Parts: sequence; structure tokens; C-alpha cells
Amino acid sequence: MNTLNFTAVVENYWILEAPAPLPYISLNALKRVKDPLPKPEACPYCGGSVKLVNNCEIYGKSIGDWPFAYHCQKCSEAYVGVHPDTDIPVGIMACKKLRKARQSAKISFHEMLAATGMERRHGYAWLAKQLGLSINETHYGWFTLLQCEQALAVTKAETKKCQTPKA
Ligand SMILES: [Zn+2]
Repeated sequence: MNTLNFTAVVENYWILEAPAPLPYISLNALKRVKDPLPKPEACPYCGGSVKLVNNCEIYGKSIGDWPFAYHCQKCSEAYVGVHPDTDIPVGIMACKKLRKARQSAKISFHEMLAATGMERRHGYAWLAKQLGLSINETHYGWFTLLQCEQALAVTKAETKKCQTPKA
């Protein structure tokens, strides 16, 4: 084992040496992330360099318990947060328009779960089938604008089905 990579062991957590500005990375947290995406190297919009930052550089103040994000240093429009206690991005870097589309689509998904009584896991399996994706690709943080529109349309239709009283 390369002990240089391990700075401390706290309780059951391996605390790994973390890239700045992260205070630490938890091995358990890394293991919990299903379908981890690679760290973004270039902005998908402008090709600019990407830096792991405290999100105060984006919002003006730190927001959240794990306030870190990958942020484009060139256009500064595109960013994506990271999974708690890790440096793994929660999705593919997005501009404001795409972030909003992902949010609306996800809200509609949760409305559908509430309306249909579908479990979250089954909801994702259903959505994957609707969009023609594998379950491992069905993450709102990964969606393109088109996929957001498709997801929004199918979840809204399903919610409506449940709300329409049967004649
Ligand atoms: Zn950019």
C-alpha cells in the first residue's frame, strides 16, 4: 500500500488525500457513488479549463454541506457539483439553461412518483425504458436538453393519467 495516499483513518473511514480545495475524500463515500463519471477536463461549451472550486466562487458564498464544484475558468457559465465527501461530479457540466431543464424534469419525475405511488427505483427503471437508455445512464445530472424535454413529457403524461378520474 502506498501510505503517501492515505493521510488518516478515522473510525471506519479511509480518509484519502484530497485535491484542493477539498478538506478530505472518504473512500466509503466514493464506493457509494454508482456510475461515477470521470472528472471533467474541459468545458463542454467553450473548451475552457475546469477547476475544482469552493462554490463560493460561483454563488458568492458557500452553499451546502459539501460546497464544491467543477467550474469552467473561461466562460464561467458551466459547472457541476460533486457527490458529498468525494471529488466525483454529480453529472455532466451544465449551463444555466440545462441546469434549469434538469431541475424541472426531476421535479416532474418526483411528482409522477407521488401521483403513481411508484417506488423511486422502479421510477428510474420505467424512465430508462421510456427514454431508451440503460438504467446506468438514467441520471438527471447526465441528461442533455433533449433528454430533459423527453423525460419531462413522459413523466407529465404519466402523472396526468393517474389524475384523470376514470369515466
Ligand atoms: Zn466554459
